[in-house]
Amino acid sequence: MDEVQRIKELRTLLERYAYEYYTLDKPSVSDAEYDRLMQELIVLEKKHPEIDSKSSISNRVGGVVLDSFKKITHKRMMLSLANAFNEDDLYDFDRKVQEALGKSNIEYVCELKIDGLAIAIEYENGSINYGATRGDGTVGEEVTNNIKTIQDVPLHVKEAKVFEVRGEAYMRKDVLAHLNEKRKANNQELLANCRNAAAGSIRQLDSQIAAKRQLSNFMYYLVNYQDFGLKSQSECLEFMRKEGFTVNPNYRICHGINEVIQYIKEYGEKRPSLEYDIDGIVIKVNDATKYNEIGYTAKTPKWAIAYKFPPEEVVTKLKDIVLTVGRTGRITPNAVLEPVRVAGSTVQRATLHNEQFVKDKGVKIGDFIIIRKAGDVIPEVVGPVIERRTGAERDFVMAKVCPICGQPLVKQEDEAVHYCVNPNCDKKNIEAIIHYCSRDAMNIEGLGEKIIEQFYNIGVLKNIGDIYYLDEKVDIIKNLEGFGDKSVGGILESIELTKKNSCEKMLYGLGISEVGAKTSKLLMKHYIDINKLMGASMDDLLRIKDVGEATASALVNYFGDPNNLMLLHLLELEGVNFKYLGVTNIDENSPFYNKNIVITGTLSAMGRNELSEILEDQGAHVSSAISQKTDILICGVEAGSKLDKAQKFGTRIIYEDELMTLLKKN
Ligand code: NAD
Repeated sequence: MDEVQRIKELRTLLERYAYEYYTLDKPSVSDAEYDRLMQELIVLEKKHPEIDSKSSISNRVGGVVLDSFKKITHKRMMLSLANAFNEDDLYDFDRKVQEALGKSNIEYVCELKIDGLAIAIEYENGSINYGATRGDGTVGEEVTNNIKTIQDVPLHVKEAKVFEVRGEAYMRKDVLAHLNEKRKANNQELLANCRNAAAGSIRQLDSQIAAKRQLSNFMYYLVNYQDFGLKSQSECLEFMRKEGFTVNPNYRICHGINEVIQYIKEYGEKRPSLEYDIDGIVIKVNDATKYNEIGYTAKTPKWAIAYKFPPEEVVTKLKDIVLTVGRTGRITPNAVLEPVRVAGSTVQRATLHNEQFVKDKGVKIGDFIIIRKAGDVIPEVVGPVIERRTGAERDFVMAKVCPICGQPLVKQEDEAVHYCVNPNCDKKNIEAIIHYCSRDAMNIEGLGEKIIEQFYNIGVLKNIGDIYYLDEKVDIIKNLEGFGDKSVGGILESIELTKKNSCEKMLYGLGISEVGAKTSKLLMKHYIDINKLMGASMDDLLRIKDVGEATASALVNYFGDPNNLMLLHLLELEGVNFKYLGVTNIDENSPFYNKNIVITGTLSAMGRNELSEILEDQGAHVSSAISQKTDILICGVEAGSKLDKAQKFGTRIIYEDELMTLLKKN
């Protein structure tokens, strides 16, 4: 299916599931399946920035507020949490926090992620003003009377000041079991799980029902902590405990992300023995004075993340391991599986990456193996089920020659991957052309995988350059079955049309290793012209934020190969656009052009995002963390540690007055 179509389909589907979950408290799919679809949507939306995603479900918090309830507008939005599904996501989160704060070994608070319903309660003069659900994050449902039935929620507190607490109302596992027993006896529909039971109980118009449901509550957030001089999440938790709220006792202060990972492992094991359901671990930066500095997205705070425990794992038979050849000649062993359903879809193949991976996993052909789909849409091989071995299983032996061209495979000492290095390997060449024509690259309509293979086999399309000579081969193509004036005309038209593409598409299409679609765009935003990129040295490339050693050396090697230079020369001669068209008004004379810039403090004339966009349109690279690579620090009032660092590094500092003058000049 077309990816754009899939985005629409996913949005519709997820909106329906969210409605069933948040509004009706009756989900029809598992959370893991919902998360999987949401991940798929997020990936596709990133791939298609041309499709507006501001109002997409991926950017929205929660569900619809029922009309039957009075509405409460939250004084501060009740946000959702970004998700982490694996250790890499956690390291990524930690890296971003470190960048934002300009220091390492961050102190985090890990809390259990209770699977219930978020509630907010405001107290004034020691009594409850109101209690509300999260709703859509901005407006929630007023459920004061229902919340008052929860034993863990104190009706009176010592503190007289106005304050708001947030927490999770939940149902204990034994309460649910007991309730369902009674419902069964009364021939009533059973409650699916603790989360739905809790949500369904709080969102009752009749508080008598809520009272009977024996809900519990843990508080985890004090909204106006500054009013009490509190400076950290752990201080807030202790403050709430002293005021008589129930705070989950299992929280822990962790120093650095590795301690966080230990905590997650520990509670992954303890999870089944807890009295209540948890669906993950919430990790929060402990230093609450830094929350604004780290910042927020429209949907989530950037100083916290929810690690979700891995979803479903299934067992299936590994029927065979077959090798595929990629466009770079990379040889990948693939597991051929007895088809099996996992997290909502049928899996028949899974990558085994390389020979070493197969060895590390210890799988043999004929084994029963565990397959997992963790957050991602890609199935992962976990390992064999040793107890089910019969003795008939056999070891995988890596081939010595390419399965397509029969030439010997090559593996570098320090690499795990085997390559087919034969420049004439058909599969490699076909894959390279397929990649060049693909949607994210040149997007040449009509030149799909099957047709490229067909054209290759009759000799009219042997490499990327041949695409631009197809107009001379029309007579030969028309002899093929199914090709008439119209279809051939369509292909030639698309080839002509796509010559005008912004050049990052072509760059990506060349299939240079380490240069994906995102990196291509980043590079072309920087160099504007492919010819300039071709002349860039290792040092030049490494000055660009997010370009590492591997990418820089892949580019230098690629442009150092005369065959590649010949191809680029041909493309230019044939009229393929070599210029970046994304931003048209880049002025190379701007003082910000090509500069690495960091913004700190508050500016009176505009917000940081607005300024970032203006600077980026002038060819600047704006980042959040200051380093020796930073060329300019733009400094507003109340600048923090970044100013100290800039002074230490000798970075140029521009204050608001000078900034405005420089911007006006351009
Ligand atoms: P979330 O569940 O990923 O995380 C945010 C929530 O975590 C908070 O609102 C709060 O209620 C809760 N939480 C529990 N303990 C916490 C703690 N110690 N600190 C802070 N927060 C804590 O986000 P979400 O937006 O509430 O829900 C999205 C999730 O709901 C999805 O990832 C999916 O798993 C599930 N969902 C399922 C369906 C379905 O059809 N099955 C539909 C919609 C959503």
